[in-house]
Amino acid sequence: MTAQRIDGKVFAATVREKVAGHVARLKEVHGLIPGLAVVLVGEDPASQVYVRNKGKQTIEVGMNSFEHKLPVNTSQEDLLALLDKLNADPEIHGILVQLPLPSHLNEDLVINRISPEKDVDGFHISNVGLLATGQKAMVPCTPLGCLMMLRDHHGSLSGLNAVVVGRSNIVGKPMASLLLRDSCTVTIAHSRTKDIEALCRGADIVVAAVGRPQMVTGDWIKPGATVIDVGINRIDAPEKGEGKTRLVGDCDFDSCAEVAGAITPVPGGVGPMTIACLLANTVTACCRANGLPEPE
Ligand code: NDP
Repeated sequence: MTAQRIDGKVFAATVREKVAGHVARLKEVHGLIPGLAVVLVGEDPASQVYVRNKGKQTIEVGMNSFEHKLPVNTSQEDLLALLDKLNADPEIHGILVQLPLPSHLNEDLVINRISPEKDVDGFHISNVGLLATGQKAMVPCTPLGCLMMLRDHHGSLSGLNAVVVGRSNIVGKPMASLLLRDSCTVTIAHSRTKDIEALCRGADIVVAAVGRPQMVTGDWIKPGATVIDVGINRIDAPEKGEGKTRLVGDCDFDSCAEVAGAITPVPGGVGPMTIACLLANTVTACCRANGLPEPE
């Protein structure tokens, strides 16, 4: 391996430490405790784990955590009514609805019911528009975490060629907006893109957010490029024993690490940064709601 391993776990711990410092100051100086409400509908096991981790880390940095676990058959009307209540509650500065929602619920309608100022996931159309037009927005947590790691590694990103593989609303598109805002030359690749390998080979930065295990291999990567692997895929791992599985990214770590200058591992790369950025967004929302200067 020649690439530097970008340690998301360590990075996320420093972000959480900073957040905890801001929370302590908000309490001491202004008597404010940032509050994050997380809404989970149904019992999807992966979502339950995410929600538990979010609640635990929210409390660890000194904020208030409000969990709303609703039955799988919750009606749209009841969910919207809960969001209206949370929007109006001054103790709550951030609201997150865990996705995916059960299929009888309209995700767009639900997300857009969250007050944009409390939309700490940055998925409300107002925040999407603000980000796309370079205005002050709530920025989606996963791409924000990727950007922080890229800035930390490169300093300035200005003029770098970046390829984002994946065009989802939650990762690919906001990632591209953020890189463009930092003056990268950005290409977005997706399932219809022709000769995606050649595009990646021209990139100084490759961000893979595809959901296909180990799709990006070392021969796609320009020597010295930075690889950010957003993917989280569970695959069979017979080498660990019968029925065992392991987590891998959208990049083939070993072959990419032979060529890249820096790379994020899976697990331990982008994943931990996502929750840390959620906590940071909640502090930002609390400051904005109270007319206080925002943390950097
Ligand atoms: P989506 O399924 O919403 O989007 C996947 C994107 O990849 C689509 O734009 C799709 O293209 C594109 N794609 C699929 N197959 C190919 C292919 N063969 N070649 C090129 N592009 C392709 O996924 P998400 O954006 O939600 O998530 C992506 C990955 O990131 C997943 O593994 C997910 O688990 C992970 N993730 C990790 C997070 C973290 O905290 N680390 C947070 C969120 C997601 P098209 O639009 O044409 O269909």
